[in-house]
Amino acid sequence: MFRLINVMEIMVNETVDEILRVNKDICSCSRCRLDLAAVALNNLPANYVVTTEGEVIKRINALKQQFKVDIICALTEALTVVSKHPHHTYL
Ligand SMILES: [Zn+2]
Repeated sequence: MFRLINVMEIMVNETVDEILRVNKDICSCSRCRLDLAAVALNNLPANYVVTTEGEVIKRINALKQQFKVDIICALTEALTVVSKHPHHTYL
């Protein structure tokens, strides 16, 4: 079964989890998590691939090294934006 996935989206979500695990002072509610990913993804190129379930991890690992620095830069900016204007208080 083939799937269309945005590798960038998966890598950003993984990196958000890593950052939140290490930095306990950043709000990790579901709204802030998604806001972080959304802001970062708007500043990163989409990277769609057609792959099978078993190949997904391999494709991600191959591309992760290449985009790691870009993803961390985008998320660092996203952290500034989201922490200045958190949406979680309106829920
Ligand atoms: Zn929050």
